[in-house]
Amino acid sequence: MSQPVAYRGRFAPSPTGPLHFGSLIAAVGSYLQARSQNGEWWLRIENIDPPREAEGAIDAILYSLEAHGLNWDGETQYQQARQTRYADALAEIQHNGRLYACSCSRQQIANTVGQTTGPLIYPGTCRGKPKPQYGPHALRIDTRDSVIQFKDMIQGGHHIDLAEESGDFVLRRADGLYSYQLAVALDDVEQGMTEVVRGSDLLDSTPRQIFVQQLLGFTPPQYAHLPVAIDPTTGHKLSKQTLAPALNDKQAVQNLWQVLEFLGQQPPPALRDSNLEEFWNWAIPQWQFSMVPRTVAISVKPDAREES
Ligand code: GLU
Repeated sequence: MSQPVAYRGRFAPSPTGPLHFGSLIAAVGSYLQARSQNGEWWLRIENIDPPREAEGAIDAILYSLEAHGLNWDGETQYQQARQTRYADALAEIQHNGRLYACSCSRQQIANTVGQTTGPLIYPGTCRGKPKPQYGPHALRIDTRDSVIQFKDMIQGGHHIDLAEESGDFVLRRADGLYSYQLAVALDDVEQGMTEVVRGSDLLDSTPRQIFVQQLLGFTPPQYAHLPVAIDPTTGHKLSKQTLAPALNDKQAVQNLWQVLEFLGQQPPPALRDSNLEEFWNWAIPQWQFSMVPRTVAISVKPDAREES
């Protein structure tokens, strides 16, 4: 486990494709929040899900970060290297009696809850049943009687009854892979993060991650969920799934300038023509967390994302 520091933040991309404008918001917001406090900023590649990994994505992400002057501290962390730790944590949760096997398919769950679209809240069908003798099964965590409270530094106070709002969620999938919720919850505390700054699309994962951290006896970090960028024509968040264009690494300062503006920092227009060093020399001391818009999403003009 890593040594405690005054401030440690991180950027944790999944290598499902190259970085885009939406990912740059999370990278820059977390970077500035760390560097403006002389803190550390770590990079964790969340390669927990090989089937979703895109070939060449890790290299493209590392290259883009360097091209934008986003320099991280220490070694790059990889979730693939932490499998044993996830297995140990799972065994510990099992020991607490909170884990159970579930062989329900998505279709079966949808039929049970009578829902055809959207996220499904698992109705607890397999809770208390004996472990299936054969066939693949997921491992879910029993969330009954778990109310999680936290105060997000941007999005405000939350009081979540997990059983109602998330349901019993998966910690190990039926294909044997550890879930994002387990891996991130554990990595953030074991890698000594004091603050997690990321996009508001992950806000509803936070109570699940805090729950796992608390079950394992850890103190959760602080959380700050930045607004995400929305495409005004489709109303969807910019993401790899919505085919957001890859960042053009050749126009790093322009990309960074647009992120600063998105994050409410009012960068001077002339900063667009600066070099990377001048850009960061302005942006780090000028960073004002209190100016980040207190909202979950903001529409971005197309020119903020165009590749040229
Ligand atoms: N790996 C996640 C993603 O790329 C982000 C995880 C996090 O910041 O907690 O969406």
